[in-house]
Amino acid sequence: MALEASMPHLPAQWLRSVLPWGGGPAHQSPVDPVLAAHRRQHPRADVSIVRRAYEVAELAHRGQMRKSGEEYITHPLAVAELLADLGMDTITLAAALLHDTVEDTAYTLEQLDTDFGHEVSYLVDGVTKFDKAFYGDAAEAETYRKMMLSAGRDIRVLIIKLADRVHNMRTLGVRSSKSKTRIAQATSEVLIPLADRLGIQRIKRELEDIVFFHLDPAGWAEMDDYFRTQPERNNYLTGVTSKVLGELRALKVHADISPRKRHHWSLWNDRVRRGHLYDPPRLAIIVNGPDTDCYAALGAVHGLWRPLPGRFKDFIATPKFNLYQSLHTTVLGPGDQPVEFLIRTRSMHATAEYGIVAQFRAGGNGNPERNNPEQLEWLHRLLDWQRDAVDSGDFLTALRCDLSEEQIQVFTSGGAQVTLPSEATPVDLAYTLGDGDRMIGAYINGRLSPLSAPLSDGDRVEIIHATLGDEPVRPSADWLEFIRSPHARLQVSQWLAEHGYGEDIADQEAAPVSLGNKLRLGRSAIGLALRQRNRALASDHPLRTLAHKLGYPDLDALLVAVAERRETANELVERLIAAVDEPGAASLARG
Ligand code: MN
Repeated sequence: MALEASMPHLPAQWLRSVLPWGGGPAHQSPVDPVLAAHRRQHPRADVSIVRRAYEVAELAHRGQMRKSGEEYITHPLAVAELLADLGMDTITLAAALLHDTVEDTAYTLEQLDTDFGHEVSYLVDGVTKFDKAFYGDAAEAETYRKMMLSAGRDIRVLIIKLADRVHNMRTLGVRSSKSKTRIAQATSEVLIPLADRLGIQRIKRELEDIVFFHLDPAGWAEMDDYFRTQPERNNYLTGVTSKVLGELRALKVHADISPRKRHHWSLWNDRVRRGHLYDPPRLAIIVNGPDTDCYAALGAVHGLWRPLPGRFKDFIATPKFNLYQSLHTTVLGPGDQPVEFLIRTRSMHATAEYGIVAQFRAGGNGNPERNNPEQLEWLHRLLDWQRDAVDSGDFLTALRCDLSEEQIQVFTSGGAQVTLPSEATPVDLAYTLGDGDRMIGAYINGRLSPLSAPLSDGDRVEIIHATLGDEPVRPSADWLEFIRSPHARLQVSQWLAEHGYGEDIADQEAAPVSLGNKLRLGRSAIGLALRQRNRALASDHPLRTLAHKLGYPDLDALLVAVAERRETANELVERLIAAVDEPGAASLARG
């Protein structure tokens, strides 16, 4: 397939190699803009795999149309160009061009793996949806779970998914109004918070404004009117800027200063919170020097104009959970007009705009986890507790809930910085640190506090555990009333269930689980055990064989046994793997 697809382009390549001025416009390929954007960030990249990916994708999608009537290939091309503009690496661009082939064309994952190697096929598999015909209603939840699990090992899966969604949202206009609302809703519940967690403000801002446009057209139009009729501020800001630059020169601090416009959604959101519209002019000072230059610049600004009390924030000393760093301040500028300043270094600016992507822009193909493990701490926490959520529906609910929370940061007695949902309690912290079952008390900022006390950003918290000789302690069912994090909730309910306490056991008996749910539960437990071993089930055949071997009348009976915990998924999967790893058997694919 790859060879066949590359044929039409051979003459152009040949021309380019023999003519000193290269191929003219007549020989341009639709993938050229992607390559040009890629070379701006990575001038020495070998782009042959991207060309090949385009040719294969173009052939596979040939004849398919988007709802807008355009050729389908325009979509993967746009997604790849978006990622190239962000500065992503060569492999990501190849995977982006191929990202819908396995889901929507006859091209298989195995073929993709053979043609482009494991890295590309891993990324494509991570964003490929589960078949609705096979998984039914669980398909969406299973798809999200697969995507998050894949992202745990290679974060580029999520970055491709975000770019995919940006292009789908940009072209949402042609869809029916019902599906517009559904897609916009899902975007705001899951993908926007994910973009925020990864710190990719460029994507977050664009998604927020498109979602706003579709879910609240009147509100969006009102903000748009405001921006269009806003009085001219350029003269005012030029005056402020040159005063600050003068001071900075005297301090020998090199910096660029530029106005920062708000986007529709952020201004609207802020207005709803305040009850009135508040949009002071805002300037970003990007210093070309060390962190200390930021404080020098802050001193210069505060020396020129009086800072407004309570408006100064130091996100350099205490970065946000997504590693955002800046100084924020508001001063009473010329004419007693408030002016906001954001002050940061160049590298902080790259992180503020691009988040985790900044590392790909700067350094080619490095694994960001190695460089910056704390940036993905939330993802690993999420994947830790997802192992406890057997049912994929539970997983999606917990994911939505985790993502919907505002985040706060607290400090442990050991000085570690921990991110929690806002209003989390000492119990949430104890479970996040991995030892909640034995906790008996907590000090918040040095004062003994109830276990249910909501924590605030910046609190210092010391957890007190029971020691040997104390009265035996245990988690209490009451904790479930105030616990905020899904992880802690799962741990406590599980402890209660395992030790015979708790109402959830009684609840389950009162409302018996339907047969359909038991089948789904059994299947999803086996699916999870397989994924944890990097395996996948190509067909039901090996499972069915195993069911017969174990004396069950059919596969459903085995699935019910797993759901009722009469069989454990882990043991079944070990037997499955042992059976298919015998020479000659090959119905379990390596994931
Ligand atoms: Mn797509």
